[in-house]
Amino acid sequence: MAPRVRFAPSPTGHLHVGGARTALFNWLFARRLGGVFVLRIEDTDAERSSEDMIDGILDGLRWLGLDWDEGPKVGGPCAPYFQSGRLDRHRAMAEQLVRQGSAYYCYCTNDTLKAKRDAAQRARGAAAPGASDPSAWRYDRSCCALTAEEIISRERDGLPRAIRFRVPEGTTRFDDLVHGPIEFDGANIEDFVLLRSDGHPTYQLSVVSDDVEMKITHVVRGDDHISNTPKQILLYRAVGAEVPRFAHVPLILGPDKKRLSKRHGATSVTEYARQGYLPEAMFNFLALLGWSPGDDRELFTRDSLVAAFSLEGISGGNAVFNPEKLDWFNQQHLMRLATGELAVRLKTSFEGAGLWSDSYLADRRAWFLAVLELLKPRAKRLDDFVVQGGFFFSDTIEYDSAAVDTHLRAAGVEDHLAALDAALTALETFDPASTEAALRAVAEARGVKAASLIHAARVAVTGRSASPGLFEVLALLGRARVHARLVAASRLLSPSPS
Ligand code: GLU
Repeated sequence: MAPRVRFAPSPTGHLHVGGARTALFNWLFARRLGGVFVLRIEDTDAERSSEDMIDGILDGLRWLGLDWDEGPKVGGPCAPYFQSGRLDRHRAMAEQLVRQGSAYYCYCTNDTLKAKRDAAQRARGAAAPGASDPSAWRYDRSCCALTAEEIISRERDGLPRAIRFRVPEGTTRFDDLVHGPIEFDGANIEDFVLLRSDGHPTYQLSVVSDDVEMKITHVVRGDDHISNTPKQILLYRAVGAEVPRFAHVPLILGPDKKRLSKRHGATSVTEYARQGYLPEAMFNFLALLGWSPGDDRELFTRDSLVAAFSLEGISGGNAVFNPEKLDWFNQQHLMRLATGELAVRLKTSFEGAGLWSDSYLADRRAWFLAVLELLKPRAKRLDDFVVQGGFFFSDTIEYDSAAVDTHLRAAGVEDHLAALDAALTALETFDPASTEAALRAVAEARGVKAASLIHAARVAVTGRSASPGLFEVLALLGRARVHARLVAASRLLSPSPS
């Protein structure tokens, strides 16, 4: 049977790389087996959820190309499901559980519960000093023991009440697809709340109600939900629904082996988009964070990942986020990106730097693509084309002062450049081979090393000490610009007239 999986983010923060990876694993699994990928925004915490966060999550998923298959549709692609629109169904499930005796009304107030918890803590503290652990107190089921008359009288008095699940005795086991068999003793699970006294469903209730209704067959999510799983399994059983398979994906750690956080740099997917990473690279990188194809392949396209993915390949150990590896993936995917497509994707970075011209995709396209081809091997991110190649797209050159000091402010350089300018101006054709021959001839005639003249010319026309091959650069800049820059450089070197 084709699987049905879901990604269920709470929109209380950005789309963190950990969340994106969970979404990716779900998506790959669904696509691999021809299943269905559902997106459910768990926005029931109205105070902590926000529209901005929802937009950020959707943008991040779209950027990665993680399209979802179901949801309300008004023309166009489907919207995600929003959990906040489903609260009545969750409440109905809780009431159903009360009717069938699997859950009960609890009239205990917060004050009563707190007093009991404190008393238990004091007693434990007296018995074993230092061993106080408030979480060790579990609800004492006092409301589970109420008689029918007692319940009727409380209802008549309109007392606020929560609904608690009656946790059955015995062990709850499941076979996690990542971690293997896991079991929890019911004696350690409190009768947890399903519906709060203000009518608000808890996470345990909402998630199971939705997963049952959406017929989810595999729950693939973060490790931090392992302790919720036995409660959810008990709920599935109580409502007579088939229990899905679970795959709990380990944490992502920073290079220092601590939980990945802002201290390690950007953690939100859209931030990486802004920094000029390719979605293909992020996709590939995230897929290999904790998953392996079982061999040493690393570079994958989306399609080859779909073909290779299986939940069994997810490792039980924590994955380490290595930013240098992400750069490597980005470089590899940049190299593989068709230059015409790269040109389109660069528009935003170029616009940001004030360097864009629509002619780059029209009459100057051939030139633009040739420049990109030249810059590609050195670029790690989209922004690098602007930073490393800005001199192609603007005549306002920023000279690197160290490069100027090293390569231009040496004895005789000004005259050498003037001679080079004359030689280049006289060329019939202005291509890499002829500019190279001209430069070498000038160097020889003037008794300087060709390498020194190459360095000086590079700084003069690019402002930088590193660039792609000088002769390709000259040819693509064109005769007029090269001349103007050689003249400008010699002005830079001449002492200003006083
Ligand atoms: N909304 C939950 C979260 O963001 C996920 C729930 C689940 O996957 O079961 O942690």
